[in-house]
Amino acid sequence: MYSPSISGVATSSISGSRIFVYEVEGMRQSSETDQTTSPIRRSGNVFIAVPYDRMNQEMRRITRMGGKIVSIRPSNDAPKTHGTVAPELGQQSQKSGETTKPMTQAQEKVQVPVNLYKPANPYIGKCISTEELVREGGDGTVRHVTIDISGGNLHYLEGQSIGIIPDGTDKNGKPHKIRLYSIASTRHGDNLDDKTVSVCVRRLEYKSPETGEKVFGVCSTFITGLEPGADVKITGPVGKEMLLPDDEDATIIMMATGTGIAPFRAYLWRMFKENNPEYKFKGLAWLFFGVAYTPNILYKEELEQLQAEFPDNFRLTYAISREQKNVDGGKMYIQNRIQENADELWNLVQKPKTHTYICGLKGMEGGIDEGMSAASSKHGVDWAAYQKQLKKDHRWHVETY
Ligand code: FAD
Repeated sequence: MYSPSISGVATSSISGSRIFVYEVEGMRQSSETDQTTSPIRRSGNVFIAVPYDRMNQEMRRITRMGGKIVSIRPSNDAPKTHGTVAPELGQQSQKSGETTKPMTQAQEKVQVPVNLYKPANPYIGKCISTEELVREGGDGTVRHVTIDISGGNLHYLEGQSIGIIPDGTDKNGKPHKIRLYSIASTRHGDNLDDKTVSVCVRRLEYKSPETGEKVFGVCSTFITGLEPGADVKITGPVGKEMLLPDDEDATIIMMATGTGIAPFRAYLWRMFKENNPEYKFKGLAWLFFGVAYTPNILYKEELEQLQAEFPDNFRLTYAISREQKNVDGGKMYIQNRIQENADELWNLVQKPKTHTYICGLKGMEGGIDEGMSAASSKHGVDWAAYQKQLKKDHRWHVETY
């Protein structure tokens, strides 16, 4: 997908893209470097020219090959011996997404790819694995599906979504329209090789109000029924609302219901599971997760393992509506947990480094607002006005469906 060139001698640049030069020591020679590079000197350092929007990916590749980055500088500041750039890299760079709006804090460092693939010409990925996430006794079907995207230029950031076009035609014989799905993997993919994207999809099923028959959603049934090896038409990526700030000391409050966990899985994996040289999370992440039954807690084992491993940086609060009771003896919904913790949350949201994210079922916001409103009013603050300002500051992020 991406083949930078390494060299001890030549110079070049990509028009229209900012180039940085990594000085790397200890890089192993391997079949990977043999294919992509000019000769690498075994002793001494090598210099690698990297476009701005590929910096993270290249860091991972270098680490994989045993290299250590000893300096990074813009190419105009580079020594004479800086790297060449492969032509295909230049093309990729020019193709990568437009940035149409003023940059937010979360977008400052990395360009946000948008609509690299459109419905008229989607990317054709291949399903490489699919796993049921609802355990015995749970309600419905939710699958974690991983798709190979190594053949093109599809890349994305945590918090973005992709469109999927299900196979087949609608009742008028026209191709089905796209449906959006939050990306559940980090930008590096579940295999950390920058070659996959994963989604977490609930199969929609409901009783037809007219006939009483069971109806299955078109696209969610298509995705949850995918077999490894099957083709998947993908558009996007899209979305800038749910991007994670680069700030390693931020407080990230996450409120999810059901598959709303998808972007938060990506955040948490980036924060705690990946060893990214440019992002070492040291802040606080607090996940509120609402589901119906314990077996419906998606990614349960991994979430609890993270909490056990990072107790100072990760808090996990479940609301299990059909099993737990709220203080009034009613069902425990996510808003009840927000209300229980409202004073602490109110203190946190006032801090400039705090971002709050809400993702999942439409309608979950009402209860959250009630809890926050009760807490803020104790201090004479009108929550609606305060929240408006938080949104303006890009610190209150909502994606519900
Ligand atoms: P369709 O065949 O399109 O059927 C949906 C239609 O069925 C509805 O429009 C409605 O008319 C009808 N319907 C649904 N429920 C009922 C009911 N109870 N009674 C009567 N009629 C009903 N989904 C995920 O699973 N995971 C995600 O990560 C995810 N992320 C999303 C991110 C965004 C930004 C958005 C906008 C949506 C996301 N969705 C996600 C939802 C997803 O896009 C689809 O809407 C969902 O999968 C249903 O699509 P479908 O083709 O299966 O259903």
